[in-house]
Amino acid sequence: SEKEIDIRNLDNYSKKHFPLCMKHLHETLRASHHLKHDSRLQYGLFLKAIGVRFDDALEFWREEFTKIMDNDKFEKNYSYNVKHAYGKVGSMVNYSPFSCLKIIMGSVGAGDHHGCPFKHWDASLVKRKMMDCGVASEGIESILALVKNGHFQIACTKYFEFTHSLQAPSTTINHPNQFFEESINIAT
Ligand code: SF4
Repeated sequence: SEKEIDIRNLDNYSKKHFPLCMKHLHETLRASHHLKHDSRLQYGLFLKAIGVRFDDALEFWREEFTKIMDNDKFEKNYSYNVKHAYGKVGSMVNYSPFSCLKIIMGSVGAGDHHGCPFKHWDASLVKRKMMDCGVASEGIESILALVKNGHFQIACTKYFEFTHSLQAPSTTINHPNQFFEESINIAT
């Protein structure tokens, strides 16, 4: 793709333009300097699709992981994953970022951070995060009602509206990268 994302701005992009699933992965990585395999895959492929170049992605993961391990360990155990996601090793497949449906259908164990917050989190945690993100109370109410009825992507669409001055995305959110692109388009 032609678009390129400067990784020095990732915190800002996360805050303003990431869907909750990716915002959570970004913040968890920044705070704990680690993510397990399924989280790295979900977040890494999203980053690739928003336009983070391979070299930058490798530096980004290295920067965080080497806060809790030495570079040799990162190289040996983790850099392969990044290369793999970019099709640089193994079967050289150009992997696609995960859709909402794939993320929602996936299983998330204890201590994992991937998945869809609207599907995989407790309602109380969703509520707290909505408040942290500045969603108005009527927004939180309607989002929680949608979650309760299993309408996770519509809940995410409402979350988009309440964090973008009530501007709706063009269609119901069906992909984290759609969320990002529509959010960027509103901002620019
Ligand atoms: Fe992420 Fe999709 Fe869930 Fe929204 S509905 S939080 S974009 S997986």
